[in-house]
Amino acid sequence: MTFAFPAAPAAAVPISGSAALFPVHRVYCVGRNYAEHVKEMGGEVGRDPPFFFTKPADAAVTAGRFPYPPMSQDVHHEVELVVALGPGAAIFGHAIGIDMTRRDLQAAAKKLQRPWDTAKAFDFSAPLGPILPATQALTAGAIALDVNGSSRQRGDLSEMIWRVDEIIAELDRYFALRAGDLIFTGTPSGVGPVSRGDRMEARIAGLGTLTVDVV
Ligand code: MN
Repeated sequence: MTFAFPAAPAAAVPISGSAALFPVHRVYCVGRNYAEHVKEMGGEVGRDPPFFFTKPADAAVTAGRFPYPPMSQDVHHEVELVVALGPGAAIFGHAIGIDMTRRDLQAAAKKLQRPWDTAKAFDFSAPLGPILPATQALTAGAIALDVNGSSRQRGDLSEMIWRVDEIIAELDRYFALRAGDLIFTGTPSGVGPVSRGDRMEARIAGLGTLTVDVV
């Protein structure tokens, strides 16, 4: 096969303890998967169940820097457990990720009942750390995010409304899951804005710390 011009390189994520990279196929995200975050966004637990949206594969970046995007004055952090799928759509491992969000554009889209792509699926919108291999889903453990050393988000993976196995089963009803898929599993409460020069430090028990500088 010959391409008319060079194909974009595949997005890839380092794997802890391996020289091989994880090639990203798709990035799925779960919205409103922690009760306290549902409440802070003005939703009602029970009435507003979790749901899915997506980001492009090349939004998944591991450089540890987040270029502040154009067309927004209110870009928020959302720390999330990321589940990586391997062959057979089995769990391959976990990573720490941040679902960066243009909150102002999201609010406008909600009001006009329009899609969220410009709010969620922009360039560099899915910074994440290396994948730590695992065969079973993480179901509990602290998840947190600090900005410039100040606590912003604090939660526990056990607070998810849909657990990881439920998320995978539900996604599988809508999409053909494949090796290389990443799933951002939703954020606990405490989301808030970042500015250029800020340092985000995201932590999940057992996965270490992800440091991302806003540039
Ligand atoms: Mn999110």
